[in-house]
Amino acid sequence: MKIHPKHIGFDIDGVVADTMEAFIRLAHEDYGIENITPSDITEFLAEDCLTIDPYIIEEIFNRLLTSPLEAGLKPMAGSMVVLKKLSQKAPLTFITARPQKDPIAQWLEANLGPEIFGACRLIATGEHDSKGEYIKNMGLKYFVDDRAQTCILLGKQDIIPIVFSQPWNQGKHNLTSVENWQAIHEMCQIPAESSPSD
Ligand SMILES: [Mg+2]
Repeated sequence: MKIHPKHIGFDIDGVVADTMEAFIRLAHEDYGIENITPSDITEFLAEDCLTIDPYIIEEIFNRLLTSPLEAGLKPMAGSMVVLKKLSQKAPLTFITARPQKDPIAQWLEANLGPEIFGACRLIATGEHDSKGEYIKNMGLKYFVDDRAQTCILLGKQDIIPIVFSQPWNQGKHNLTSVENWQAIHEMCQIPAESSPSD
């Protein structure tokens, strides 16, 4: 049994966007902090696991929230290829806890292209724990997120959560998880490649 693309939705940071890569890169390039590795980020809130100045952490996250394109936020490896394939079967749905919609809308449009972006649904909830309500209202059954607490809560709301593996969700859940976008691709019904003669 594979997931029909109309039934799956996606969180953005840590799933579609490689927010951790951008955080580590900006900390290094702009604040001279050289010793952070992905495995150091063992908590969802970076200030809970890193010894760097919380003011710097906040400033970097603010840049990623308000100007993701300028900050060089990159798509997660493989994400755009898979999302573009899924979009051939159903509009894409993204539900983020970001408080502002416009900056991440511009980022999505730049990465997906105007046509696919134009058909997609994007909600910025401003908080983590209300996602379930939006997911249900949009007719979704499955949701991919990197925050263990969010996934655990969704599991109690009749939604099937899929945890996108990240250092900060390791050992914090016993739900279905995926390591990368190839695994999401394999879980979903993807339209067959068109043959060269088409
Ligand atoms: Mg996330």
